[in-house]
Amino acid sequence: KEKILEVKNLEVSFKTYAGISHAVRGIDFNLHKGETLAIVGESGCGKTVSSKAIMRLLPESNTLINENSEVLFHGEDLLKKSENEMVSIRGSKISMIFQDPMTSLNPTMKIGDQIAESILIHRQISKEEAYKEALEMLQLVKIPNAEKRMKQYPFEFSGGMRQRAMIAIALACKPEILIADEPTTALDVTIQAQIMELIGELQKELDMAMILVTHDLGVVASVADKIQVMYAGKIVERGDVREIFYQSTHPYTRALLDSVPKIHSINKETLYSLKGTPPDLINPPVGCSFAPRCEYGMNICRKKYPELTKFSDTQECNCWLHDPRADVSNLPENMIR
Ligand code: SF4
Repeated sequence: KEKILEVKNLEVSFKTYAGISHAVRGIDFNLHKGETLAIVGESGCGKTVSSKAIMRLLPESNTLINENSEVLFHGEDLLKKSENEMVSIRGSKISMIFQDPMTSLNPTMKIGDQIAESILIHRQISKEEAYKEALEMLQLVKIPNAEKRMKQYPFEFSGGMRQRAMIAIALACKPEILIADEPTTALDVTIQAQIMELIGELQKELDMAMILVTHDLGVVASVADKIQVMYAGKIVERGDVREIFYQSTHPYTRALLDSVPKIHSINKETLYSLKGTPPDLINPPVGCSFAPRCEYGMNICRKKYPELTKFSDTQECNCWLHDPRADVSNLPENMIR
């Protein structure tokens, strides 16, 4: 399939009062037409910063992006586009939905008008046509009584319905890429599943590529084709969805998987939760950033950043456990590949 997005050596830092915080420390990845890439990690790992950098939504006043970084969309570097050029790309070619629709929806505008407006920004059609398409979008995202809902304000919608309306706005111009940042985190569990199912269906229907940003590996199982796990501004492991769920090789990925509720152990007390906190990104560690929290940590881990080990065409990870010299006698069997 055609490669539509290529992120090369993306490095993003922020100026803060305490110093320069290195939020994203040189990441590379590709996205192909119609494919879903999940970027997974705890808050502060750089996943949202990466997606906002792609959309050029980070505040210019305190953001520093390495001049060698590239975000190639059909071969053109988005990091070099003017703001005007980005305005025509955002929403029409690449769209984004966020965790809390209330912050992205305009509370003073009727839902129908908001969807129609997002269509009119990018296309020269009449208001009536835009309104008609807006109605079709609300039907597409399965909002009941769509005609009546068109005339309502966001506060008249439930959380799940607001997220559906946000999806309708994001998809109104049939973008090639949808970036969904924690799209279901603010919703309760049954609604979460419905929204993910809807996103998956629409993605197939519109043959759209998607970057799904989340802290919850459980959310991505049914929709992702490939997963990359981020920790402290770097990608520590990537693979296709089966490799990550059944044969993950990085202790951090394992910890994330262990914290996903299993069907038979919904009891929260039995859920594993990862102890400790990610490192300070103003002074990132020299070696493996996960070392202070890793149950398999070795001396080398604190001294040198782990080299890349490739396991297949799709799976690779940065962890010293996969160096031939490492003692792997106490590793779970399916972690050794
Ligand atoms: Fe743990 Fe060392 Fe692997 Fe880092 S490199 S994840 S500290 S074993």
